[in-house]
Amino acid sequence: MDLLEVKDLKTYFYTYEGTVKALEGVSFSVGNRKTMGLVGETGCGKSVTALSITRLIPDPPGKIIAGSVLFKKKDLLKVSDEEIRAIRGKDISMIFQEPKSALNPVYTIGDQIAENVLLHDEDLKNLSKKEKKREAWAKSIEALRVVGIAEPERIARSYPHELSGGMCQRSMIALAMVCNPSLLIADEPTTALDVTIQAQILELMKDLIKKFDSSVLLITHNLGVVAETCDDVAVMYAGKIIEKGNVREVFKEPLHPYTKGLMEAIPSVEKRKEALKSIPGSVPNLINPPSGCRFHPRCPYVKEICKEKEPELFDGRVACWLYGGAR
Ligand code: SF4
Repeated sequence: MDLLEVKDLKTYFYTYEGTVKALEGVSFSVGNRKTMGLVGETGCGKSVTALSITRLIPDPPGKIIAGSVLFKKKDLLKVSDEEIRAIRGKDISMIFQEPKSALNPVYTIGDQIAENVLLHDEDLKNLSKKEKKREAWAKSIEALRVVGIAEPERIARSYPHELSGGMCQRSMIALAMVCNPSLLIADEPTTALDVTIQAQILELMKDLIKKFDSSVLLITHNLGVVAETCDDVAVMYAGKIIEKGNVREVFKEPLHPYTKGLMEAIPSVEKRKEALKSIPGSVPNLINPPSGCRFHPRCPYVKEICKEKEPELFDGRVACWLYGGAR
């Protein structure tokens, strides 16, 4: 069984304008020691998926209305609040896009990492209060060293505003990895950083995933990042998974017209003289999503059935009437 199995997840937001159907039956899994990339345009539901898995959807206005999230065979949507708090930060940890806003501005980096150790580390159970604090601080320095920070003692005593974006993201990764989580959820971890720092952070993540034997759910709009980092990929569009599979297979032969469009929109040196392609139209309004296939208003291959009936994920790979199903 896979480490994480998300099945038919539905999350809605109840707003004055109407019900936003942010996730409409999302299913995918993340294998042991595998990296799964969840990719799609802004607003397609990637971050809502991450927040639903960890039960961090603000309620109200959000609500998970159906589905299951099996993590180590346990449905996270059914465990108690206390249990999910114990899982977050220990078994499942998260890295966010804006490390400066994810870190607490009034505590030092070292205090924030040590706090996570004090909350979750079983090794500290039988120690005195003073010993626990000393040990947690030592572990936070070590965690900073592991993520490649040159002067971990000095950085541990610094506040987030005293550090660069790249340094904050390294600290955030140290905080996420210090309790050796089984699953790391990284939501656009490099988007807010300079290009050179992005590459360093990706390299670091790849090294740590190997070192700690963790599985990763990597959320990104950047297909290049997926190609470089992931084993599997799931492409999301308007609250649904529309294509998924092994990264090599999907990149070699994307099937869904939306995935093909995303691939064609990647700039490359060979395509330098050609005009950059884009997918015409815009992401649909999820209060009143299009009928049938949600991509049909933007699809160059649209047929009658596409407007009327929603395609299933055929062969577990692609949700598109071009590839099968009753017509
Ligand atoms: Fe295009 Fe129809 Fe396939 Fe949707 S189901 S992607 S509209 S061909």
